[in-house]
Amino acid sequence: MKRRAFLGLAAKAAAAGAASTVFAAPNIIIAQRNIRWQMATSWPTSLDTIYGGAQIFAERVAALTGGRFQITPEPAGKLSKGTDILDVVQQGAVPIGHTASYYYVGKSPITAFGTALPFGMTLRQQNAWLYEGGGLQLLQEVYRKKFGVIQFPAGNTGAQMGGWFRKEIKSVDDLKGLKMRIPGLGGEVMTRLGVTAQNLPRGEIFQALQTGTVDAAEWVGPYDDEKLGFFKVAKFYYYPGWWEPAPTLEVEVNIREWERLPKEYQEAIKSAAVEANMGMMARYDARNAAALKKLLDAGVQLRQYPKSVIDAAKKVADEIYAEFSSKDADFKRIFTEWKKFRDETGRWFGLNEYAMEGYLFGNM
Ligand code: CA
Repeated sequence: MKRRAFLGLAAKAAAAGAASTVFAAPNIIIAQRNIRWQMATSWPTSLDTIYGGAQIFAERVAALTGGRFQITPEPAGKLSKGTDILDVVQQGAVPIGHTASYYYVGKSPITAFGTALPFGMTLRQQNAWLYEGGGLQLLQEVYRKKFGVIQFPAGNTGAQMGGWFRKEIKSVDDLKGLKMRIPGLGGEVMTRLGVTAQNLPRGEIFQALQTGTVDAAEWVGPYDDEKLGFFKVAKFYYYPGWWEPAPTLEVEVNIREWERLPKEYQEAIKSAAVEANMGMMARYDARNAAALKKLLDAGVQLRQYPKSVIDAAKKVADEIYAEFSSKDADFKRIFTEWKKFRDETGRWFGLNEYAMEGYLFGNM
């Protein structure tokens, strides 16, 4: 049909109020193709808040594309080991994954910035850095170059707790010789303070703590920890988890798969990831308080890490960052910007938010 004739007919049809039935043509409705992806995740389904983040993401992508782009999250172990997500997405064996990027610090220390660093940023700082401080763009450039992956923040646990101990910790000396389940950079800091750090999978932590294979273990926070029953075998529950002030979980997409997606589907992924990022945090915030009450009712003893222990840990963490910076140019470049942003926003949060929260929560 010639364009002029088409427009003429369209005008007549519109005048008759029948445009949609007469001209539901390819010119007007562009049919997007149906796409189905499986998503590898690092989580068991029982970790319902974190696995729930992957579910929120997948549900929102489907809703935003009229059901044409279906992503099915699969628990750890189904498509790959929970700590191999970046690898399988990089290889293209799976198009998309949901994971914590700091599981891959062995591949590159820069992956820690995608999740959390000891004495790093709070939730508000982390989101401000990623979305508005240039952090996500910086990290995306490096992920693309190093791993052939594009990633988006898609969940957060908020500040984690400092772990379960069978005995009280009153000084750095009390840490020496302890065996503790604590992975990643937190584990590296603890190692340098004299702890034997181990990375046990979730299913093995309770028994290790019960039998004394480890003397202490960290996991997440009240909601997840209560379900695993650590309080039955270790009485002292420490805070804060200074190694994970606000760990971000992320969606990772193989870059070739990403580039083949229609633009609208890419936009759906971006928006769904933001919803998962916020939705997971809201779930934790709504559930942690009730779980903490249950733990206290069961006789758990809360303890704050002594300042001397936290100061020693901070010093060691800074030494580790200096070592990474001397060996890895990408780490140095990102760390310099990250630290500047953390310190500057910290001064702002230290003023107004801190005063507000100190007053509101100080005596509850
Ligand atoms: Ca943890």
